[in-house]
Amino acid sequence: MRESLLDRFIRYARIDTQSDDASQTFPSTEKQKDLLRILVEDLKAAGLADAAMDAHASVLATLPANLPPEHPAFGLVPAIGLLAHVDTYHEVSGTNVQPQVHRNYDGSDLALPGVPGEAIRVADEPGLAACRGLTIITSDGTTLLGADDKAGVAEILEALWRFAEHPDRLHGPIRVAFTPDEEIGRGTEHFDVKAFGADYAYTIDGSGIGVIEDETFSADSVFVVVTGADVHPGYAKGKMVNAVRVLSDFLMSLPPHRVPESTKSREGYLHPITARGNVSEARAHVLVRDFTEEGLRDLEDTMSAAAAWAERKYPGARVALDTKRSYRNMKDAIASAPHVVEYAEEAIRRAGLTPGRGAIRGGTDGARLSSMGLPTPNLFNGSMNFHSTKGWIPLEWMEKAVETLGHLLDVWVERSTGGPGGGG
Ligand SMILES: [Zn+2]
Repeated sequence: MRESLLDRFIRYARIDTQSDDASQTFPSTEKQKDLLRILVEDLKAAGLADAAMDAHASVLATLPANLPPEHPAFGLVPAIGLLAHVDTYHEVSGTNVQPQVHRNYDGSDLALPGVPGEAIRVADEPGLAACRGLTIITSDGTTLLGADDKAGVAEILEALWRFAEHPDRLHGPIRVAFTPDEEIGRGTEHFDVKAFGADYAYTIDGSGIGVIEDETFSADSVFVVVTGADVHPGYAKGKMVNAVRVLSDFLMSLPPHRVPESTKSREGYLHPITARGNVSEARAHVLVRDFTEEGLRDLEDTMSAAAAWAERKYPGARVALDTKRSYRNMKDAIASAPHVVEYAEEAIRRAGLTPGRGAIRGGTDGARLSSMGLPTPNLFNGSMNFHSTKGWIPLEWMEKAVETLGHLLDVWVERSTGGPGGGG
């Protein structure tokens, strides 16, 4: 008998695929290929005969269209890409993952047997209350579960199997990509959009059930260089300009209500992630995030004003800012093809859910693909609290994600007949 969605997910979750943001290699860790190689075989088993890992450690595969020539949508259905990433979050261990299956969940705190006394508490996870009776999967508390994004990987394979087992269920060309290094923002650095050959795509890498995300942050990096003046500290009066102190003061002068720790939903932030230096020179790297171009500019103006203030306060110090563009909100790139999101909402409805639209407080591979000309919103995979040792995912939500994918590919066929109501 064919492997179940649960068994498949658990098999993938056990494989260590943590990425490493300090690595200079690509992919950042070789062990991601342990899973990628398995996925080549699993895709072939599901009937995607051309499955292969490319030179940049992406696994690509095709399920060719099966529409008969007499079908009104024959040759008209765009190639739809389905993407998921194999790596797990670089800050939390993914070694020796021991998935725990909590069947018929009773609504109480979920014990994590690897850490005695530790639990996923209902008080911390409001979503859990609605999951009574479901089958919930967690780690043992010592590692990530890795449902971000192995749930997406398992769901895509399960959806492909269902097409394989029902050859009468018609679909257009489907392209699949499993990619490395999404968590460190390098997943699509080498991704060959042309070779992928999809007209539209979806990452299956979102969270809460029924949600499609068509917005991401826009992102810049500001590199700060403070130049001071070093002299012997015993004879420094009126001469020394200490770059370390200037940089500290500059960073602390940035508005405290505009940092990740105190912002949510659609609020942008300034986030200093590194600071190092000495008396003569000190450097910092500040992430700038907002949903709009104006918001980014406001935050960058705030930094410029703070730099001018620091130079006035510390005569002789120079505070130079260099802004580098990272990525942009995918909304604009997707706006040219609104049906990509509408069809997904229809698919979510057909799966019996109420579609929700979300904005991601971060970037996704889809944001970069969208800016490369491939509109790629992000569909839910069901995983909750995903960058933590206390991540959890209901099997029934994974099942809904699989159903949604099936309906989504149906909708693309139905709306591609070229007649009235046809999309494309
Ligand atoms: Zn992810």
